[in-house]
Amino acid sequence: MMSKREVDQTPKEFINNNHNNISMFMNRKIAATLSRALMKISIRGGAGQEEMRRFSSAKGKQGMQLVFLGTSAALPTISRNTSCIALRHGITTYLFDCGEGSYRQLQKTPFRICKINKIFITHMHGDHVMGVPGFLCSIGRTLIKYNQPIEVYGPQGLRDWLRASLQACFGRVESKYMVHELVLKEDKSLARVATQSSAKNEHEDELPGEDIICSGDGLWHVCKDNNLEVKAGILQHNVPCWGYVVEEQIGRSNLEQILDSEPRCNMEHVALQKTDISSISRSEKEKLSNILGLNKRSRKVVILGDTCDSRSLLVAAKDADVLVHEATIVREHDVPESILRTHSSSRMAGEFAKAINAKFLILTHFSGYILGRDTVLVDLVNEAKNASGKDIVIAAKDFLTVRVL
Ligand SMILES: [Zn+2]
Repeated sequence: MMSKREVDQTPKEFINNNHNNISMFMNRKIAATLSRALMKISIRGGAGQEEMRRFSSAKGKQGMQLVFLGTSAALPTISRNTSCIALRHGITTYLFDCGEGSYRQLQKTPFRICKINKIFITHMHGDHVMGVPGFLCSIGRTLIKYNQPIEVYGPQGLRDWLRASLQACFGRVESKYMVHELVLKEDKSLARVATQSSAKNEHEDELPGEDIICSGDGLWHVCKDNNLEVKAGILQHNVPCWGYVVEEQIGRSNLEQILDSEPRCNMEHVALQKTDISSISRSEKEKLSNILGLNKRSRKVVILGDTCDSRSLLVAAKDADVLVHEATIVREHDVPESILRTHSSSRMAGEFAKAINAKFLILTHFSGYILGRDTVLVDLVNEAKNASGKDIVIAAKDFLTVRVL
């Protein structure tokens, strides 16, 4: 049985439960726009058209968005798939973890699958990685016409596991792929290019990847381009596990660039009907700039893997706009010590959000325990709010879309 909170919550109830959080994070008008979009959402489970409707508010918009494609820990449930989060930034989309079924989840969104060219894996537990081989084969057929390889980042062992999986299934990745491994211990024999021994058994569609070592600042500098930089820090889990910090490389676009790239949605947000930038007065431009938060520092999103201790990222994650944190443990006093040394409760997530001064905390990776228990998610959110000291917390659900402003 599914809980009322999970399945039968009406859109109005969902908005009432989340509006305060949304308002704290976003300005009032944008929150109102989001609330109107949420009114279109049916929380009841379903497929096809119903799920596509959930994305009506996101369709066609630019900017920075997080879309939760899987929010369940360990096993998929009727309403939650295993871990996968898409981060869209302009025309780029990165995936963080790729549980089984992630490709199908993605097909229920308006994302252009061909735009995904990087996948970041937090750790090698099956609920975070089992979808990768199939995803590569499927997306490889799409990317081939763009002549663009898929890059996968993750722990040591990922490269060999993907080779074995693809080879055993006669899988092909027509666009080609490469695996960059995060190496735990500094070893001078490890170059930034894959070693000869690991290249020996490479898959026929594999290109050489890099072995990325920990830098002097205790972080793995994973990748960087003109738009985004991704760093990683090691977390405490029962297998090697990383958290990723994604930060814009440049300041936010200026008003003209934004209005030029997405005039419709911004006009909608500020209730201005003008489409020509030259017709907007100076005071209106000032108002728009304030509303859109232009000329502020670059946006930062932190996505953690499974963890019970994330202190390695205290500095790198500081002042994150959005922190995505697991909340697997429901009742701390009721779980064995081994779980407490592996996962987090919502209280622990809230404390980390407070420690890094995160503006917005999104809880995810929920245990099957929440099924059939009406108030558990609300309790988890409240615990995280109390621990963070801020009213900035929501619980993710599959297909939740959050725009990072
Ligand atoms: Zn795990």
